[in-house]
This record gives sequence, C-alpha cells and structure tokens, in this order.
Amino acid sequence: MRPSIPFMSLVPSDEAAVRRAIDRVLARGWFILGPELEAFERAFATASGAAHAVGVGTGTDAIVLALRALGIGPGNEVITTPLSAAFSALAIVMAGATPVFADVDPDRLTIDPAAIDAAITPRTAAILPVHLYGQAADMPRIMAIAARHGLAVVEDACQAHLATCEGRPVGTFGAAAAFSFYPTKNLGALGDAGAVVTNDASLAERVRRLRNGGQTNRYEHVEMGVNSRLDEIQAAILSERLTELPAWTDERRALARRYRERLAGAPVVVPREADAGHVYHLFVVRSARRAELMAHLDARGIGTLIHYPISIPRQAAFQAFADGEGAAADRAAAEVCSLPLHPRLTKAEVDVIAETIATWRPATPAGSSG
Ligand SMILES: *Cc1c(COP(=O)(O)O)cnc(C)c1O
Repeated sequence: MRPSIPFMSLVPSDEAAVRRAIDRVLARGWFILGPELEAFERAFATASGAAHAVGVGTGTDAIVLALRALGIGPGNEVITTPLSAAFSALAIVMAGATPVFADVDPDRLTIDPAAIDAAITPRTAAILPVHLYGQAADMPRIMAIAARHGLAVVEDACQAHLATCEGRPVGTFGAAAAFSFYPTKNLGALGDAGAVVTNDASLAERVRRLRNGGQTNRYEHVEMGVNSRLDEIQAAILSERLTELPAWTDERRALARRYRERLAGAPVVVPREADAGHVYHLFVVRSARRAELMAHLDARGIGTLIHYPISIPRQAAFQAFADGEGAAADRAAAEVCSLPLHPRLTKAEVDVIAETIATWRPATPAGSSG
C-alpha cells in the first residue's frame, strides 16, 4: 500500500483554542490595535528574550519597518543573502534601499561573513542576515563585522521563532529582528501577520508609529508611515499558539534527529547541524539529482518542496541587483530539497520517508555531492 504523506497540512490541530480566541475577540467587538495585540506583543517579546515586540501586517513589513525605523532608505546599501525567500530582499527595496548580495557559506547556507566583508562599500548602511530553515546565521562573526564598520544589523528571523545562536536568542543580536506568522511558519496565524522585535525602546516606538500611518496621536501624522497592523483576531490566535510553540519546537527537533539517524548512509547529503539552537522550520537534504529524488518520493505519495529553486539575484525582478557573487547559493538552489517536517508528522512517517530515500537508486551517475 502506498503511503501518502503531504509536505504539510494547515488544517488546525488546535481548533478548540483557535475558536476560543476568535470568540473572545467577537465578544469584545474590538478588532484593531486592542488588548489582544498588546498581550501578544508582551508574550512574544518575552518568548523571544527581547524587551519589545511590535505586531505588524507581515514578516516582509516587519523587515521594511525595522529598516525604516533605523533611518535606512534611499542611497543606502543593505547586504543580504541570495538564498532566501525573495521577500527578504524585496523588503530592502520597499524601504527604498539597495540590496547587495553576499554569497552563502556552502555548509551552513546562511550568509558568509567573509563575503559580507568583501561586499562593504562606503554606501553600506546595514546587514540583513537570514536565519535560514530555522538555523541562525553566524551572528557573532556578523556582529563583529558590523561593529568594525559601524553598520546596523536587522535579523530576518521569519523562519526562526525561538531559535538561538550559541545559546543566545536570535533577534537579540542586531538592532531589531523581523518575524513572520505566515500560516506555514513555526508560529503561524490564520492569515498574514508579523512582528518586529527589539531591545531598543525608541526603535520600538518608531515602528509602532510607522505601522499605523505615521501617527503619534489619532489624526496626527508626523511622518509617512504605512498601514500594517496585526489584527486582534490573529493576535488572539497567536497568543493561544505561542503557549504550544515550545512543545511544537521540541517535536520538530526530535523528528529532525530521527531523520538524521535514519538517513545515515542514504544517497543524499544531510547538511550538518551547525548550531543546536536550530528550530527546524524546514528539514533540507541535498542531491545533485534532485529532480529524480523528488519524482521518486512523489511516486510514493511523499510531498517535497524546494527552498529555494532560484537564488534572489537570479530572479527577473532583481536583475538590476545581480552583480554580487553567489556560486554557493546557486549550487544550493540546484540541489536542496525540503522533506516533510511539522509537529504532527509522526516518527513512523519519518521512518517511511527515510526508508524511501535510502532505497532510492539514482539512475544517473553520481555527482559530487551525493
Ligand atoms: C516568510 C518569510 C518572509 C516573509 O514573511 P511574510 O510574512 O510572508 O511577509 C521573509 N523572509 C523569510 C526568510 C521568510 O521565510
């Protein structure tokens, strides 16, 4: 009999809690910038080990508003990774600044600190590292470079809720960090939502103003903001789910550990875990014969996805910014394959997936990386 293991399912496993949250908001009749958002912001800041969290409409807006609140915009370059959701670099453009791509470390797949160094110009204002797949970028080295050159750091932590880097929570290294609560993220809403996290009270205040049209008081606009608010229903749902997040994260880590055990000797490359604070938003393997691997799994009812098939500077929309080096990112984009991993996946399903990969016999000759 064929197994059928979709890449993921978004049907809530916590329907009772979600309904409780929605009912609470309906009964109160307060839908924007109310007590649910305030409570979630406090709880999320605490969970993230930061002093302040400001809820916004999306993770993309969280990056944009963090950059804008730091005064970064037209004329400024922001160094970032070519291997991420294109929204990371789109946010830099939305802030009015120019993305400059520095290649990834071929092993960790996060931005290579040496490549950052090489990409710095007199116009560089900030670095936007991405904690890819749930694993932190090399923040100690990135912060050292930033300090040496007087650059701001905004962390794209959209895939890294509760992750740590050498024991310290992601999002607390840079001036600010952006989180996404897009439904597929480790902490997901039932729609779009995001947050900026920071230890800087005045930066948090500026983001609060920017997300709400640039108003200080109602009807008093002191600067050009945007309309990007995290609504009460999503905030209430996120508060309920935040209490489950540590257990969900443990489950992701346990499943990832099992994948590693069961995939030992399989004809794919399993990237090493560079930091134990990895929260496994995605479990990614590599193969030079990825298309064959994905077809083999698909034929046996196992869903896979690619994160990401095209590096950002190779995207048509980013052609104008494509002059950076990205050989390691391009190679990763050609080889990475994300396997199913979510808190409701069972150990038995991981075993089936790993066994299906272990018994795969690639038809084409072996490449250099599995
Ligand atoms: C999801 C994601 C974003 C964008 O978040 P949205 O909430 O969809 O706007 C940005 N960067 C990374 C790394 C992401 O995974």
